[in-house]
Amino acid sequence: MANEISRRLFIKGGLAAIGTVGASSLPLPATVRGATQGALATLIDIRKCIGCEACVEACQEVNEPKFPEPEKPFPKMYPSRVKVSDWSDERDVMDRLTPYNWLFIQEATVTVNGEEQTFTIPRRCMHCQNPPCADLCPWGAARKLKNGITRIDADICLGGSKCKAVCPWHIPERQTGVGLYMDILPAFAGNGVMYKCDRCYDRLEQGELPACIEVCPENVQKIGPRDEIIKEAHAIAKEINGHIYGEKENGGTNTIYVSPVPFEELNKAMEKGPGKPHMKPVEDSMAHADNLAKAMVIAPLAGAVAALGKFYKFTKNDNGSEESRK
Ligand code: SF4
Ligand code: SF4
Ligand code: SF4
Repeated sequence: MANEISRRLFIKGGLAAIGTVGASSLPLPATVRGATQGALATLIDIRKCIGCEACVEACQEVNEPKFPEPEKPFPKMYPSRVKVSDWSDERDVMDRLTPYNWLFIQEATVTVNGEEQTFTIPRRCMHCQNPPCADLCPWGAARKLKNGITRIDADICLGGSKCKAVCPWHIPERQTGVGLYMDILPAFAGNGVMYKCDRCYDRLEQGELPACIEVCPENVQKIGPRDEIIKEAHAIAKEINGHIYGEKENGGTNTIYVSPVPFEELNKAMEKGPGKPHMKPVEDSMAHADNLAKAMVIAPLAGAVAALGKFYKFTKNDNGSEESRK
């Protein structure tokens, strides 16, 4: 699959280095393959990013089979105050998160040593260690995997957007007119499916690097056991008198940024809003017992919907008409 990434990337910015990276298949480093226990984390050194967007294109390209193919016209939304969310005619949008764009490059221009400097920062799901999107999903569609990935199962999600509401960065994005609800209760429940970075869980299973890491001509990102990634982030921060984001935010995440300027400054300077997450300090949103209690209450219901979703996927695959309802 790795070789498939390369085609569109040769075009991007005339960067010879991308061609070199994309043309060969890069396996996971042995330390990562061996790390079957515990979480893997990514380290993003924002000093190195040149904003070429090769990673964004690679993400779109490898994840295209997972993107939604909605049925139109859309059924009535439930409850009626919920707005249709349709990105299916704007699949090329790259400057924010959408159901068809799970990674984008955010810019922040700040003054460093008296000179203006623009940083380009890859943004996507942080893959929290204790993810509220997974803990509070009423249907059990969002789940945290042992290797530190949080992913949303498109066969189970009903698009209620709870994951987006409870995510401190409001990362997941909804597409209406697709998913389980279209076949079971189109007029009474559900509004689509939520989408976000799944950290290329399927590529990792095959022993391949996430696409965005593989194609980067500047080696901005690396992936490894979380404790090693944290150690390296601290070593870089010490060397450059820099700053770290993601180690403590929301109780800890598996996406660790390192920067020569404080994240408060970057956060102030960047454009924020729908599909464009902030970089503020974030407290542990699952630290409160009442949130955990809610998760316990919905657990039996989540199990029932998960079973229905699996049956749905099985029947779709069984008749050969559709591989997967993504
Ligand atoms: S992370 Fe790498 S591929 Fe992505 S924009 Fe930055 S330099 Fe380009
Ligand atoms: S960043 Fe948001 S969507 Fe991603 S794992 Fe954390 S809570 Fe979930
Ligand atoms: S890890 Fe995979 S899904 Fe996530 S941003 Fe990178 S390429 Fe996209």
